[in-house]
Amino acid sequence: MAASITRATPFRPGRRTLPITRSPLFRQSSTQRQNWASRPFDVAKDNVAQLAASPRQPLTLADLLKHGRPPLNKEALLASANFTLSLLPARLASRIQALRNLPFIVVSNPHVSKIYNNYLHSLSTLLPYQQRRITTLEEEKQFGDVLADLVQTHTNTIPILARGFLECRKYVSPADVTSFLDTHLRARIGTRLIAEQHLALHYASQPVSDNPSDGADARAINSVPSNYIGVIDTALQPARIIRLCEDFVGEICELKYGVRPRVKIGGEPEASFAHIPVHLEYIITELLKNAFRASIENGNEREPIEVTIAAAPDVPGKVLPVQGDTDTGFEFDSEVNENEIIGYSAPSSQSITIRIRDRGGGIPPEVLPNIWSYSYTTFSDLDYQGSENGNLDALNTIAASGGHVSSIAGLGYGLPLSRAYAEYFGGSIAVQSLWGWGTDVYLTLRGVGRID
Ligand code: ADP
Ligand code: MG
Repeated sequence: MAASITRATPFRPGRRTLPITRSPLFRQSSTQRQNWASRPFDVAKDNVAQLAASPRQPLTLADLLKHGRPPLNKEALLASANFTLSLLPARLASRIQALRNLPFIVVSNPHVSKIYNNYLHSLSTLLPYQQRRITTLEEEKQFGDVLADLVQTHTNTIPILARGFLECRKYVSPADVTSFLDTHLRARIGTRLIAEQHLALHYASQPVSDNPSDGADARAINSVPSNYIGVIDTALQPARIIRLCEDFVGEICELKYGVRPRVKIGGEPEASFAHIPVHLEYIITELLKNAFRASIENGNEREPIEVTIAAAPDVPGKVLPVQGDTDTGFEFDSEVNENEIIGYSAPSSQSITIRIRDRGGGIPPEVLPNIWSYSYTTFSDLDYQGSENGNLDALNTIAASGGHVSSIAGLGYGLPLSRAYAEYFGGSIAVQSLWGWGTDVYLTLRGVGRID
């Protein structure tokens, strides 16, 4: 029963469930299995399976957007909270289920098991809210705080999982790792987006008065910045993000190599569309890191990185078809026919392509087949040398820095994860290497959601 996973925690404002620290060793010995079976957790196991298998409503970004349109009022905020609660548990359960299906030796790795427990904790924390529903601004505030905590708990998932999988690399094939991580990380993009979309609305509302006589509902809902709907910027200019990322990656290069290549932006720098700035920022940072590193290591740091922005011409009345994805994408879910086509369009450009051209010598043919594998890297920092695998030390550094990847390379997640972000809303990344000269990367992103 649903209550078991929450350990009968009642819906009590301000109270949070304790993290479940038990590792998922339910496949151990028969004695242990026996013990597990007699505990509430075992019932929770069925509960997770049930939730993971439960039919989910197809979700579109338009759904996400509808609660956040200005003016953001109380009803919209509560509706968004309950909508978020209607989506997250099944998605968390499906991740828990996927982790449970990994080979035992992988699940029992302390890092993988930590992530598993984080998911279990999140699910057990959210379920009481889901059962009770949120009806007042006071409850919404508590829910928002709890949700913010949960989002924070999952911040380091990628370096921790990466570390776990590296430690288990003797027991799982690289193809299996890539396939698991690809599904997991893509699903994570969606889960985080659902949570962050509500959090953005939550933070846009502020208490107006500390006077209890005003009642719990006396919160003014501030209006959000004009072109933002939650985490979506309806007038996002890629050129601005590129400049920000150029600064950030430039700093890293100066620290590491003592030089900083330039970025030359051409094409249509004014182009804008509706997209999620943090997604674009992640992708551009990773692509610029690769381009900067290659240019410098190839002795071509004086050659600018050429970035060309092209907006696809809008055809009035024409809506781009988008192919859905059953597990990870927003457009479809398990109940929806995979081949169904949903159309959406954006207010400005429907899609924007960004070409990043470097003079970094291209990608060696023997490296090329591996660039989309998680954890594949040709980077080996001096700091990491002497260890069994430089990658593990790089991961330690990243985990210690709170998940913030400020190293120029080394995790081997840059390209595959960028592609996962790009493809999430029907975009793509293509790498074209001119071996001996340089590399062109084509990033296409589609404007998300019809915003009117
Ligand atoms: P990382 O940068 O951490 O190594 P990535 O996934 O970003 O991981 O890239 C994987 C590998 O692909 C790099 O180690 C590098 O060998 C190669 N690569 C990616 N982009 C470029 C580029 N622009 N020029 C040359 N090689 C590249
Ligand atoms: Mg990289």
